Amino acid sequence: MKNNFEKFDIAVIGGGPTGMMSAIQASAKGARVILIEKNKYLGVKLLMTGKGRCNITNNSSIEDIIETIGKSGRFLFSALYQFGPTDIINFFEKENVPLKTERGKRVFPQSNQARDILKILLQTLKNNKVTVRTNSQVVKITQENNLISKLVLANKKIISADKFIVCTGGKSYPLTGSTGEGYKWLKKLGHTIVPLFPALTPIIIQEKIPKQLEGLSLKNVTISFWKDNKKIISQFGEAIFTSEGMSGPIIIEASKLLGSFLSANLQLSIDFKPGLNYEQLDKRLQKDFQKFNNKLFKNSLEELLPKKLIPIIIKLSKINPQKKVNLITKEERKKLNHLLKKFTLTIKNIAGFEKAIITSGGVSLKEVNPQTMQSKIFPNLFLAGEILDLDGPTGGYNLQICWSTGYVAGQNASFNLAK
Ligand SMILES: Cc1cc2nc3c(=O)[nH]c(=O)nc-3n(C[C@H](O)[C@H](O)[C@H](O)COP(=O)(O)OP(=O)(O)OC[C@H]3O[C@@H](n4cnc5c(N)ncnc54)[C@H](O)[C@@H]3O)c2cc1C
Repeated sequence: MKNNFEKFDIAVIGGGPTGMMSAIQASAKGARVILIEKNKYLGVKLLMTGKGRCNITNNSSIEDIIETIGKSGRFLFSALYQFGPTDIINFFEKENVPLKTERGKRVFPQSNQARDILKILLQTLKNNKVTVRTNSQVVKITQENNLISKLVLANKKIISADKFIVCTGGKSYPLTGSTGEGYKWLKKLGHTIVPLFPALTPIIIQEKIPKQLEGLSLKNVTISFWKDNKKIISQFGEAIFTSEGMSGPIIIEASKLLGSFLSANLQLSIDFKPGLNYEQLDKRLQKDFQKFNNKLFKNSLEELLPKKLIPIIIKLSKINPQKKVNLITKEERKKLNHLLKKFTLTIKNIAGFEKAIITSGGVSLKEVNPQTMQSKIFPNLFLAGEILDLDGPTGGYNLQICWSTGYVAGQNASFNLAK
């Protein structure tokens, strides 16, 4: 029985970016820390971030980050001042990981390799002598007299500690280990869980068109989103067709807003040529048709559109593909013009947690001290990262939430340990 029991100063549950940062900070002043992860390896999701390039933060001012995160951003005020974007940039650069800032102040490792970020975190855990226990699932957290007392692992081992930091992440991309177990324990312990929604997701389209265009990536397009024929938002940038619908930066960003409108009649329209107004596009079509005046309509759009899109546009235009372009009428050009400026698809749904980048909702911020990440219910419990009711848009904001809250939780958990 004795071998089944271990005692540490601090137990951190969840080996994602938040848990690793918490354990690094908690151990920095000599506390005996255990980091418990159910996967075989730490940082499984971290390696997928930024399409494997890891957008570690957004190099904006603290005020801008708070404003961009929105309603819950104020909660982060103290955490960002304790450990903000400049601090995480210094943290990695000090360890000789050169970084670069791209469009929209997104910061990446110069190597474009998330594994370079993970490598430093693993090395620091080792240097700080953190006990890392992988393949170890926590199945139960118990409390005694208003204090968290111990953790039970799936292999029946028991871990006791003075302080506990829960960093089990959200419910999105469950294959990475983020299956939402933390929410269940915390709810049982008396914490409020703000309802959970998949956020930053691809969208599912009613029509079969995306399947035919699967993999087609659109650059420099404007996509507008419509609710009951009223425009909600319009965004310029990139998107991609998937087997069931659409994804890519514009779509992912808009999905958060669409989630709350799903019962309405939702559509999106793609402007393939946002740089040209209707008149200018008509002139461009006339010019192309003059240039190719002996060609058939089906062979006349190659300079204007991606190859994969041409048969779809031809079909929807209802212009005879065998028609010589010099015979295309003004009315037919108008129809074509409309298709290129307002290519409309019906939004059926947003994808679920399986494909969501982030979980919206989580442990109520009202029950967590923003200066320390300490639970207001259990004084020896700290909560950090995606498990909190905090999420931001794409651009490095979500990892910054992890670094800042993880740092603060780790630092504060290491104060006043019973030695
Ligand atoms: C595809 C994708 C790309 C992304 N790209 C970016 C990006 O470029 N920039 C950005 O800022 N954000 C990005 N994000 C979001 C970012 O990955 C998350 O915000 C971040 O991983 C959350 O970190 P976390 O440590 O709180 O949780 P997680 O990373 O989810 O880690 C939680 C860990 O806890 C473990 N765990 C859960 N339950 C238990 C248990 N019972 N016992 C033991 N261990 C347990 C899990 O296995 C997991 O390893 C991306 C997300 C996805 C899905």
